[in-house]
This record gives sequence, structure tokens and C-alpha cells, in this order.
Amino acid sequence: MKKSMLQSCKACGKDISRYSPFCRNCGHPQGSMIAIGLIVLFLLMLLAYYIAFCMYGIALTK
Ligand SMILES: [Zn+2]
Repeated sequence: MKKSMLQSCKACGKDISRYSPFCRNCGHPQGSMIAIGLIVLFLLMLLAYYIAFCMYGIALTK
């Protein structure tokens, strides 16, 4: 049960949290799907905000 919460670091092999995007021992990035999902979500929100801001700006100038 405890094993399922852990994964081995790809760089140093030390057991780290499955949800940690970086190894706590050596700092090697683990390519966590949750971390990638959060980054993608953040970029999409930024893009949506940018598009909305541009459309609002165009609407004001008319
Ligand atoms: Zn490591």
C-alpha cells in the first residue's frame, strides 16, 4: 500500500512521492502528468485571458 504512493527517481533511484514533479533528493524532474496538466491548464487560462482582453480592447475602440 505504501509502495503505490511512491515511485523511484529516474535519475538517482530514491523513492519519492508519485505526485512530486521533482525529486526531493537530486531535483530531477519526474514528468508528472499532474504537473504537466497544471502547466497546460495555466497556459490555456493565460491564452483565454489574452483573447478575451484583445476582444474587449477591439470592442472599446469601435
Ligand atoms: Zn533523484
